[in-house]
Amino acid sequence: MKRRQFIGLFGASALGLVLPELALGEDRRRSSGSTTTTTTASSSLVPTDTGSVGSVVIVGGGMAGATAAKFLRLWGGSNVQVTLVDQNATYSSNIMSNLVLNGSTTMSQLTYNYNTLTSAYGVKFVQGSVVGVVPPVGSTAGSVRLADGRVLFGTKIILAPGIEFDDVPGLTPALQENYVPHAWRAGAQTTKLASQIRNMRAGGTFIMTIPASPYRCPPGPYERACVVADYLKRNKPGSRVIVLDANPFIQAERTNFERAFNVTHAGVIDYRPGQSLTGVTVSITGGKHAVTTSSGTEYADVLNVIPSHRAGKIITDNPVLANVGGRWAGVDVRSYESTSVPNVYVIGDSASSGQPKAGHIANQEAKLCADAIARALRGDLTPNPAPKTNSACYSPITADTASWLTVVYGYDAVNKKMVAVPGAGPIEAAAATQDNFNDMKKWFATLMSDSFA
Ligand SMILES: Cc1cc2nc3c(=O)[nH]c(=O)nc-3n(C[C@H](O)[C@H](O)[C@H](O)COP(=O)(O)OP(=O)(O)OC[C@H]3O[C@@H](n4cnc5c(N)ncnc54)[C@H](O)[C@@H]3O)c2cc1C
Repeated sequence: MKRRQFIGLFGASALGLVLPELALGEDRRRSSGSTTTTTTASSSLVPTDTGSVGSVVIVGGGMAGATAAKFLRLWGGSNVQVTLVDQNATYSSNIMSNLVLNGSTTMSQLTYNYNTLTSAYGVKFVQGSVVGVVPPVGSTAGSVRLADGRVLFGTKIILAPGIEFDDVPGLTPALQENYVPHAWRAGAQTTKLASQIRNMRAGGTFIMTIPASPYRCPPGPYERACVVADYLKRNKPGSRVIVLDANPFIQAERTNFERAFNVTHAGVIDYRPGQSLTGVTVSITGGKHAVTTSSGTEYADVLNVIPSHRAGKIITDNPVLANVGGRWAGVDVRSYESTSVPNVYVIGDSASSGQPKAGHIANQEAKLCADAIARALRGDLTPNPAPKTNSACYSPITADTASWLTVVYGYDAVNKKMVAVPGAGPIEAAAATQDNFNDMKKWFATLMSDSFA
């Protein structure tokens, strides 16, 4: 199968990949977090000579960056040196993190390392925080600068830093960490929010706010409302979930979530669209937090304010790169090269690609980008004329049922953007079922393997 055809398909199983056994010695060293740089020889998975020659530095080892690193080695071969930089030694998956809130899983079960990328694919991993980018010009390498002063060079640079959050009036970072966690970048805040929900009184009020689109994972906040409502019904009788949505209507999987709000969780979820957040007053003495929107003030025992998003700081620090409203990076969706800075590519949530900000799409964008760079590094500068991507998303509605949503996107050459292919979505599951819940687990395991193993 030609690479361009199989980019549009999804998953390790679809790719026919045999996942390599982990090198256990290497695993133990990496998971200690003590090693900050790892370089390994290529394995037989990486072809020796594809004709591609060059070096690529990737900033951000999340869903987009990890996938790009792996597929650049698979498709570029051993003469393409790939360096993956992340500020953290391991990656915490946002996907499935709403299930930490009802105790179904833990953050440690959602943690991934870079061992297989280094041991099986010969990716070099560097732990560090990138603070500056100098774009490559022609055959002159560009560079990224780390906070500790190290500089890494590449003939191509990929930026995949995910998102940053806007300020919320009344909330400092410390108040968010300790009292009003957004838990929209999975990690300590997710665990914090789970413990607040676990300790909430019966008959209490959980309030969450949803930012205006675009935000990461369009169905994610509605999924969270359902998971929390389901937990509270079973464990904290008489409690309520109030959803204050800045958007005029449910942003994804509308039929399924309307049914979930009005039938499955009727009397528990109170969904209010068109609510612009104006401020928060945090109670640090254990009283109720106040949240004010365009419609008035509500009081919460547990408050979950999801701030509005923008691209990662390394992009918004550079107004030329952040050429979509100063907030997102414009890209050529055939290659993900920046529309304003040649040889710099932006993938994942930071890119303005016309597709949802989602991990599944980040994986697809990464493959298209890897393919474009591997070809450019062997002199083939012709962009893929008809890229296709697929977005798939499962949403837990209760502790053991889920719904799903899928869309196939294709390239609209006239308007130069990705658009939903007629007849191929958005398509929603007919109902939330246990079968879907089981399929969700398989989908998640396949996606994470495809990106990290
Ligand atoms: C609750 C929740 C549920 C979700 N559920 C789904 C789902 O079911 N399906 C789905 O497809 N998507 C889902 N998503 C969305 C998905 O998680 C994101 O769209 C996806 O992670 C984006 O990938 P990314 O690589 O762009 O960013 P990320 O995965 O966030 O990775 C960015 C990486 O860059 C690193 N980084 C940032 N800046 C720097 C820097 N300066 N230097 C070094 N490293 C840096 C970070 O440490 C991070 O590892 C969900 C999100 C949330 C919050």
